[in-house]
Amino acid sequence: MTFLSGFVALVGPPNVGKSTLLNCILNEKLAIVSPKPQTTRNRIIGVYHGEGYQMVFIDTPGIHRTYTPLHKSMVASAQAVFKEVDIIAAMIDMNHPDASEISIILSNLRRSKIPSLLVINKIDRGEKAKLLPIMDACRKRYPFDAIIPISALTGDGVDRLLGQLQSMLKAGPALFPPDMKTDQSESFLVSEIIREKIYHLTSRELPYSSAVTVESIEENSERKMVSIEARIHVESESQKGILIGHGGRMIKSIGQASRQDIERMLGSKVFLDLKVRVEKNWSKNPRALRRLGY
Ligand code: GDP
Ligand code: MG
Repeated sequence: MTFLSGFVALVGPPNVGKSTLLNCILNEKLAIVSPKPQTTRNRIIGVYHGEGYQMVFIDTPGIHRTYTPLHKSMVASAQAVFKEVDIIAAMIDMNHPDASEISIILSNLRRSKIPSLLVINKIDRGEKAKLLPIMDACRKRYPFDAIIPISALTGDGVDRLLGQLQSMLKAGPALFPPDMKTDQSESFLVSEIIREKIYHLTSRELPYSSAVTVESIEENSERKMVSIEARIHVESESQKGILIGHGGRMIKSIGQASRQDIERMLGSKVFLDLKVRVEKNWSKNPRALRRLGY
């Protein structure tokens, strides 16, 4: 039997559940999942190893119209994906089937003509009677190879989705070694975990104006632990004040919650040194963005 392989991009408006689906498929917390939109800033590659086939998933930031340099770099990386992959899995939330981003996705699909399927997510939360009409309307808008309703949260329909994707793969070599699940470095995954905690524990505009960098990760085999130095970059002293919190309570909570997840990911005790640094206007400054990895 010939081996099958291919790259699959998950594209869709922010918050439809792309990262949740990727995590469900890969069974591991790789992509950041947040109830607030637009949190996946970088593309995350996850590798699914099937019997006789391999699928490489790319989770893109949402495609949408935006104007700041940070947003522009997110959108550019989402659109470039149409040129680089074998299959596009477009995703919508059945409770918001008419999100404006969908027309941008469809025009990219028309231009690239690559095999595509539509995933309708969150069926656990939508009204059953609405599903068929939504599927019909989508079929009329674009000739998808398949339309598959799922719940990324409960896993309902995800096996069917994987079967459909498998049937769309072409003959090709294994692209990654069998023990590899993601190509992201440990330091990237650490910064994603810390960013997720900031999203969950703080509110208002703060998460959108913070960035996390990992300065060092050192293994101390004698003490069987890993020391990590990480910095949270914010744009003003007042944001720094919010992140630190009364008597340092907020930064302590962020650090503790992050450390627990990092320990689980690395399978080791972790000492996390987390500090906040003010970097004026970083999200509007292209040079600062590059330095912070965007
Ligand atoms: P992304 O921006 O497309 O990557 O979306 P996320 O994966 O970060 O999910 C956004 C929010 O939707 C999170 O709060 C998820 O828990 C939630 N969510 C994702 N999939 C489902 C689903 O199938 N059902 C329900 N009820 N919620 C979901
Ligand atoms: Mg995401």
